[in-house]
Amino acid sequence: MEPLVDPFARAISYLRVSVTDRCDFRCTYCMSEHMTFLPKADLLSLEELDRLASAFIRLGVQKLRVTGGEPLVRKGILTFFQAMSRHLATGALKELTLTTNGSQLAKFAAPLADLGIRRVNVSLDTLDPAKFAEITRWGRLAQVLDGIAAAKAAGLKVKINAVALKGFNEDELFSLLDWCAAQGHDLTFIEVMPMGEDMTAGRLDQYWPLKDLRARVAERHALTDLAERTGGPARYVRIEETGQKLGFITPLTHNFCESCNRVRLTCTGQLYMCLGQEDMADLRAPLRATTDDAVLERAIRAAIARKPKGHDFDYSRQGVAGQITRHMSHTGG
Ligand code: SAM
Ligand code: SF4
Repeated sequence: MEPLVDPFARAISYLRVSVTDRCDFRCTYCMSEHMTFLPKADLLSLEELDRLASAFIRLGVQKLRVTGGEPLVRKGILTFFQAMSRHLATGALKELTLTTNGSQLAKFAAPLADLGIRRVNVSLDTLDPAKFAEITRWGRLAQVLDGIAAAKAAGLKVKINAVALKGFNEDELFSLLDWCAAQGHDLTFIEVMPMGEDMTAGRLDQYWPLKDLRARVAERHALTDLAERTGGPARYVRIEETGQKLGFITPLTHNFCESCNRVRLTCTGQLYMCLGQEDMADLRAPLRATTDDAVLERAIRAAIARKPKGHDFDYSRQGVAGQITRHMSHTGG
């Protein structure tokens, strides 16, 4: 079968699947406090998610990341992981992984490891219980730390993702770094992105460019740039004193769209070819219209043929440009 290649000669090998828009947290940069979630009937069933993800895998997707909302609050989610693990067994899928807030990991880490999951990304912006409660609104730090410990005990490699927030976790830069080094976790910082409504003023105040963060780390440590690339907007350095790997996800200060290898599927079957653009393709309609997978595969190819060159996010002194009004929890972070 012809692999998926977009108009800019980028092979699409990475699919991120949002399995729910729901979450047990309400992180301030991601959701409003009183979110209206989608009616359950709009969501793809686990069987539909399986059929769609499997079509992508037949077309050459080798890495699948399950996300959300909070993927581990989706009822029956282990059934979906189990279904996807058959593609690990055949070798079609090289990696099956997830991004989670960690709240349910104490329960799920061991079964996930049993299904062939090797790595997990856990979002954690602060190690201070009060600040954690403030930023997640509904979260409890202890529960997440227990989840992370369970993941480690189950043999999963943990990467911590922290959103860099000016005036919020600036003072925790080195405590986060040291904690991750002590625990053996990789750490990646993410620049806050202009997504969701009601963010113009707040986001600009919170925006902490990672070049500034990096300069702060470099005052204390020798950093070596690593050649490692994932096709996304992440770049890595090694901290020479500890050997620790530190990542920077900078969709704003840099633009790495030229090597983008990924697309994002929402829990309602919409395919976003770029996180930073509004264009999407509805795959739920062909999925529900017919059991013929050839129709589905044609719809996927047609969508990939529309993948744009890149996003238009830009923070300027005047305001935020290129902002996207949908929530990250919808597209899947
Ligand atoms: N609930 C899971 C979690 O928190 O890891 C998975 C979904 S969440 C939307 C995925 C990632 O998106 C998280 O690391 C979160 O911090 C990040 N995120 C959400 N809103 C963001 C924003 N406005 N800017 C940057 N990152 C954001
Ligand atoms: Fe939930 Fe993740 Fe969004 Fe926080 S970032 S509200 S944990 S989906």
